[in-house]
Amino acid sequence: MNARAQKLVEKLEEPLIVTTPANVRYLTGFVSSNVSVVVEPERVRLFTDFRYAGAARIVPDVEFVETRRETIAHMAEFLSGTFAFESTNLTYRDYEQLRDGGLELVPRMGLVEGLRAVKGEDELEQIRRAAAITNQAYERIAEERFVGRTERELAWRMFEFFHELGAEEEAFDTIVAAGANGARPHADSGERVIEQGTTVVVDAGAVLDGYCSDCTRTFATGELPDELQRAYDVCLEAQLKGLEAARPGIEAKQTDAAARDVITEAGLGEAFGHGLGHGVGIDVHEAPHVAPTSTDTLVANNVLTIEPGIYLEGTGGIRIEDLVVITDGEPEVLTSFPKELVTVS
Ligand code: ZN
Ligand code: ZN
Repeated sequence: MNARAQKLVEKLEEPLIVTTPANVRYLTGFVSSNVSVVVEPERVRLFTDFRYAGAARIVPDVEFVETRRETIAHMAEFLSGTFAFESTNLTYRDYEQLRDGGLELVPRMGLVEGLRAVKGEDELEQIRRAAAITNQAYERIAEERFVGRTERELAWRMFEFFHELGAEEEAFDTIVAAGANGARPHADSGERVIEQGTTVVVDAGAVLDGYCSDCTRTFATGELPDELQRAYDVCLEAQLKGLEAARPGIEAKQTDAAARDVITEAGLGEAFGHGLGHGVGIDVHEAPHVAPTSTDTLVANNVLTIEPGIYLEGTGGIRIEDLVVITDGEPEVLTSFPKELVTVS
């Protein structure tokens, strides 16, 4: 059994059936869309079908069990007794199949995710490298012409830069949101032509060795209207306050509040409708959650984003997002592209 599975075993009240692909990857290194892992105190078993058998056989520290294509249904034949399952992932159909196979089932959540929130040194190194690629992509996009081109064209350029710089893939579809479209936090990059004198939100991240990075910068296409320039200044101040409050032992909701208070005091609280940030790792959104409703407390080796936004309906949006590692002192900021307003042509 490897060290990660061993740590998990110490947290378990009953054996756990792991079906979330990112959790399987974390525990075993194995990547498949049809796999279950059963973690018991004395062993880890990996269940998958013929298509993945060759790769599964060479996974260290696990016992491989080959199943029919319907892995979950078949798996029940190898198990008996009480098992926990991941209630945020297992479908109701799969639940029924395990139950009908005679298992006692206990819903659990966040067990593996809790371990994943605290990165090992090897994981930090992978995320730093993914972030370095993202930084270079931002340096390149800032050299591109924005005005007169579509959001989609620039999103495609980011995709090309990531590819050229050696990324495996994008952590998510790059968002390029100009003018009024930037007031939508998760905007689609569309056929809108970027105009002069507005903001352009660019949110992008690369994946390297299975680990994600995440960064947002907001560019100006020429001089901004006062309302947007002021919103930018407030957002940047909030972002810096959020960074200052990203320390181990602090409740994540306090980190959120440190940034949010700046925006609220500027009279723009209504325009910041999402949490301050989220953990990043194998998934681009994972624990810990940095939001007013969060129950998480930050610890050293969390990797998370600090990303306040101000969205002015009908006018434009601002978001500034850093990816950071929580340390015993100041957070290590992995996103190096400047945060002072950068004007593009
Ligand atoms: Zn982002
Ligand atoms: Zn993010």
